[in-house]
Amino acid sequence: MSTKDYVEKDYYKVLGVSKTANQDEIKKSYRKLARKYHPDANKGDADAGERFKEISEAYDVLSDEKRRKEYDEARRLFGSGGFRTQPGGGFGFDLGDLFGGGTGQPGGAGTGTGAGGDRLGDLFGGLFNRGRQQTGRRPRRGADVESEVTLSFSEALDGITVPLRLTSEAACPSCRGTGAKAGTVPRVCPNCEGTGHESRNLGGFSLSEPCHECRGRGLVVDDPCPQCHGSGRAPSTRTIQARIPAGVGDGKRIRLKGKGAPGENGGPAGDLYVLVHVTPHKVFKRQGDNLTITVPVTFAEAALGSEIKVPTHRGQPVTLRIPEGTPNGRTFRVRGRGATRRDGTKGDLLVTIDVQVPQKLDNPTREALEKLRESGGGDDLRVELLQSARED
Ligand SMILES: [Zn+2]
Ligand SMILES: [Zn+2]
Repeated sequence: MSTKDYVEKDYYKVLGVSKTANQDEIKKSYRKLARKYHPDANKGDADAGERFKEISEAYDVLSDEKRRKEYDEARRLFGSGGFRTQPGGGFGFDLGDLFGGGTGQPGGAGTGTGAGGDRLGDLFGGLFNRGRQQTGRRPRRGADVESEVTLSFSEALDGITVPLRLTSEAACPSCRGTGAKAGTVPRVCPNCEGTGHESRNLGGFSLSEPCHECRGRGLVVDDPCPQCHGSGRAPSTRTIQARIPAGVGDGKRIRLKGKGAPGENGGPAGDLYVLVHVTPHKVFKRQGDNLTITVPVTFAEAALGSEIKVPTHRGQPVTLRIPEGTPNGRTFRVRGRGATRRDGTKGDLLVTIDVQVPQKLDNPTREALEKLRESGGGDDLRVELLQSARED
């Protein structure tokens, strides 16, 4: 975040309200704009993210009567737009300080309880409860949770619902998330009087930053809950049914929206990411939507042509006609016997021919082969090869 000038920004203009607007008007306008430009509704749109940040900044100041007065005063003193940041001077400051160091990335996927979670809290919880003592109880989005599952080849191909045991952070059941020992309650932080912010004086106006006593919660705990040591959080185990879609490949990560850790203070749950491992099949392999199989055939079958039985995945074997003179390694396609696609259609089965050389010969076979050798000279087969090798 760049160093910006308090006085240079017209927060009234940003929120589209008059300088005499009352808190209701400011709230209403902020709410409308914040919904419109919220990063979740404008994925990847940097302009909207920037705009959302401006709106949040403006609202943070104008919704707080004390800070609004300071802001008005600063603008009156220095003249709107006429005051510039002095390099090395006393009036420059980073907006990151002002808003608790949150480097909220517009459009970024929220992971855990980062700045994104805070902003969401601002939007949905902060709207009507921005008074003191509410600061530390804003809704927070739950953390994203990672899990893994190992599926058989067939399970992955068909899709399956698997129970997953998840351990995540939730409100401590002992203190119900307050962090205070049973029978006691947290008290309002005396340093910030419950606002969660403390002020620092800089020239003509003061800056607000998270309170160092209560780390922005607005509450302090005298007798910490022995279960969670005052954090208010505890690991909680739950089992969820995770639907793994058909056709998922080995090493793929699936996102299950809202199946992560529960939110705090009514905030939305995080997401669950499931890393899928697939055990290989003895016979079939996967190639995108297609399945592959290698089928041995005898030299005679390949040379004379034949009809061979080919197994399919979870179905009856199919008969494949291989033509006369089929070379080793040729691949045939059996339509509709592959993996199930998202739209319910199926890929193909690709059958590769593996011509076998007999390892043991009985007498009739030996005689037949010797006759074959006499009729077609091996030397003739290699004439061209030997010729070509001599050429430069
Ligand atoms: Zn506790
Ligand atoms: Zn405090």
